[in-house]
Amino acid sequence: MTDTDPETLADRVREGDLRLYELEEHADADVAAAARRLLVESESDADLATTSEYAFPAADAEANIENMIGAVQVPIGVAGPVEIDGGAISGERYLPMATTEGALLASVNRGCAALDAAGGAGARVLKNRMTRAPAFRVADVAEAEALASWVRDNVDSLREAAESTTSHGELHEVTPYVVGNNVYLRFAYDTKDAMGMNMATIATEAACEVVEDETSAHLVALSGNLCSDKKPAAINAVEGRGRTVAADVTVPRETVKRTLKTTPEAVAEVNTRKNLVGSAKAGGLGFNAHVANSVAAMFLATGQDAAQVVEGANAITTAEVVARGGGGDSTGERDGDLYVSVTLASLEVGTVGGGTKLPTQSEALDVLGVRGGGDPAGSNADALAEAVAVAALAGELSLLSALASRNLSSAHADLGR
Ligand code: NAP
Repeated sequence: MTDTDPETLADRVREGDLRLYELEEHADADVAAAARRLLVESESDADLATTSEYAFPAADAEANIENMIGAVQVPIGVAGPVEIDGGAISGERYLPMATTEGALLASVNRGCAALDAAGGAGARVLKNRMTRAPAFRVADVAEAEALASWVRDNVDSLREAAESTTSHGELHEVTPYVVGNNVYLRFAYDTKDAMGMNMATIATEAACEVVEDETSAHLVALSGNLCSDKKPAAINAVEGRGRTVAADVTVPRETVKRTLKTTPEAVAEVNTRKNLVGSAKAGGLGFNAHVANSVAAMFLATGQDAAQVVEGANAITTAEVVARGGGGDSTGERDGDLYVSVTLASLEVGTVGGGTKLPTQSEALDVLGVRGGGDPAGSNADALAEAVAVAALAGELSLLSALASRNLSSAHADLGR
């Protein structure tokens, strides 16, 4: 046996000669993963045979994971195809979704059928700002106010420092928030096709050096939680983070009856009483039925940062019966049809960097035609955001309709019809 045998490496870890995370220094990444599996198997009742069957060199995942032992396989399917009329994506697309939740794709697929029957879904990215908000300590509120003023007067020098670290990122705003002797500077970037959390963090660190050099403020933490990453936070729902994106559709009354087995009135009522009033009473941030389902499944399929489903589910669903002469219905042709929209305030997506480089995730991006950097830069991530919004819209339409039709059928039963 050589030193690069998994068994020998596992023994060296057992003997305390090597640490679990040092194995790649003594063997290639696949051998290191095999040695870790041996250790885990010998110290548990687990058989990791299936975990060992992955279809890419472990070295390709070195930027994505430490202490690798293999890969989890999550089933992936497609919903659609669905016609999308977006600002960055247009035409028929299959929506790749990875999940272990049975019935999710069936539900989104039914929603896609209704969207298609309605002529497709509209989608637009409304805002694009990845944020990082470092926390500074100052002496008192007078100094806090002075720092906030200094920042407003010196955005150009902060921008110069921040943008010196990236060839793609652009700093757009720096917004100061003061709490006593704490000052939070919320830096907001256009990170183009990258989700941008690394990019924004590195750029913000450079800008913070300028703040510390030029003022008396002391940087306490590069992230001060006003960003706000991977935590439920109203600031993301109000100000947006990553992409703010919306999708909508007007479904003809006949299609609602035929495809969704309900009526526009019933869907609108369920949406008001459940998504709006029920969520308000619950103190929720997500005024929707199950946007997290579509976001999570598309995030897993396309290599997004899964923890950011927290922000991705910050969405409001609206549903209304189109009234004659109402918004967009000057002719009265859509009178009585069903208008539904979903607006996701803080959808953090990228088509470069992070998990998007991994092989199956890249293939899923290919299904949408958005792998890698777009032309112009940012257009692929915009397109991905719009596709996720359409998946969310399809999921909302389907679930709201399912709830509405159950109400309808029980009402019919009560009425003996
Ligand atoms: P990244 O993998 O760190 O960076 C992507 C890089 O790709 C950019 O910095 C950019 O280089 C380059 N690039 C090439 N073509 C581009 C294009 N068309 N548009 C934009 N950039 C392009 O990815 P990231 O999106 O900044 O960060 C995502 C990663 O951060 C994920 O792995 C996530 O898990 C992790 N994460 C980090 C933190 C944190 O606080 N650091 C927090 C949460 C998540 P240039 O900058 O040189 O232009």
